[in-house]
Amino acid sequence: MAEIHDQFDTILILDFGSQYSHLITRRCRELNVYAELLPCTQKLSELEFKPKGVILSGGPYSVYDDGSPHVDPEVWSLGVPILGICYGLQEMAWQLKGKVAECDHREYGFAQIHVEKIGNGADILFEGLGEELEVWMSHGDQLSQIPADFHVIGHTPTAPFAAIGHNDKPWYGIQFHPEVTHSPRGREVIGKFVLGVCRCSTHWTMEEFIGKEIARIREVCGPKGRVIGAVSGGVDSTVAAKLMHEAIGDRFHAIMVDNGVLRLDEAAQVDQMLRQNLGVNLTVVDASDLFLGRLEGVEDPEQKRKIIGNTFIHVFEDEAAKLEAEAEKAEAEGEDKKGKIEWLLQGTLYPDVIESISFKGPSATIKTHHNVGGLLKDMKLKLIEPLRELFKDEVRALGRLLNIPAPLVQRHPFPGPGLAIRILGPVNRDQVKILQQADSIYIEEIRKAGLYNQISQAFAVLLPVRAVGVMGDKRTYEQVIALRAVQSEDFMTADWYVFPPDVLRKISSRITNEVAGINRVTYDVSSKPPATVEWL
Ligand code: GLN
Repeated sequence: MAEIHDQFDTILILDFGSQYSHLITRRCRELNVYAELLPCTQKLSELEFKPKGVILSGGPYSVYDDGSPHVDPEVWSLGVPILGICYGLQEMAWQLKGKVAECDHREYGFAQIHVEKIGNGADILFEGLGEELEVWMSHGDQLSQIPADFHVIGHTPTAPFAAIGHNDKPWYGIQFHPEVTHSPRGREVIGKFVLGVCRCSTHWTMEEFIGKEIARIREVCGPKGRVIGAVSGGVDSTVAAKLMHEAIGDRFHAIMVDNGVLRLDEAAQVDQMLRQNLGVNLTVVDASDLFLGRLEGVEDPEQKRKIIGNTFIHVFEDEAAKLEAEAEKAEAEGEDKKGKIEWLLQGTLYPDVIESISFKGPSATIKTHHNVGGLLKDMKLKLIEPLRELFKDEVRALGRLLNIPAPLVQRHPFPGPGLAIRILGPVNRDQVKILQQADSIYIEEIRKAGLYNQISQAFAVLLPVRAVGVMGDKRTYEQVIALRAVQSEDFMTADWYVFPPDVLRKISSRITNEVAGINRVTYDVSSKPPATVEWL
């Protein structure tokens, strides 16, 4: 990871456990500034790079409580601008000998900040944003006294020290959350800090990233090193595969495992797209019999996941061993173009990284994140993760730059265990076939209606219940399909999608007419929370 800091100015976000910390990172990135999140417990002397500025996030604790997390006091000697947000502001005040106390009224929601006229440059944070700023607050503590050498740059009727700045250092603290969309001009406030105060260069674009990442991959893999990776047809693995192909050509080998619970014709479509259209070196392994055999009759979702995960590892390892054996044979016969398979490509994204490093509480241990962790242990492969610094929208932008067709780049997420977790009852071939057909009609109609890109994720679920119906004057007793479609920014929360009634009518009528075994279609109107996006 170190190289990226040589190439791009970095804003360091120290995470105190707020549910919005990742949004601060995103907002900086949207300004084309590279930002990275680390837990608040990060020892600054162990940091491998020098940030251009530091942001202290919010957090659920009270600074004055025993055991609350605190930033390494080294931060005050780094000589770079610092912005404290909510808990971050309180932490700043607490460490610099101001006072923080519980407020009379917990404040949660909109507030109006009155911006002070200071005129000495300290109010650069709110420069040009007017005298009144609508913001979003979420706190139970607030400053009761500002530290020495600070002055007030904004107050609200209930919070006299809602925004403060240091008299001569570029240190600021704000009680509100500029990173959430409920603070309408919050992005601009972050921009004032990142661009105006920290003076970060705005080179963080996928155009810049792509060339640098390709060069990095080439250097890491060396002139002969080979890489294998699993592809699924999803956005992340496709973009990662194409990037590897650009970097090292045929020395990257993609493997697609058909586990029998993919969408209708999925394996063939991925084959067509990756191998024929994008030129990626690909093997498709049809292991559907093996998977379906092991899944036969299994109902428990965790067991379904385990079976699919473990079987996947075995199939993938077998395939890798075959490739290695072929390469050795070719080498023995005098062809020496191929090195050993040394690397495993993984399409890890930044939210996975954040999830594994974000601050979960003073005593939480840090867990590591591996989709296919089991593979590494046995195969002794090193991991290469070219997308690990990127958010999903950045991966999509990268995909477009790599000339991956738009429908593929915009694809909805699809879970690793596939249709097995959308069949709520026991899995068997018939159930898979029913769901594949219903799902395919559903997605086809959504595309035809031009709604696919408005929806974040849409899929059909096969319910393990039977309902009465009537067809051609005959009573039927058949299964039910539930349709799900949600809109979401980051899948942390999601709303159910409001379909035009005609589209739903068409989908329902096609499914009940064309899919044998289904006589009823329902639409899921649950948001997340309290429901989740997937049913299992
Ligand atoms: N826990 C602190 C408070 O209640 C900070 C809250 C926050 O950072 N959102 O004031």
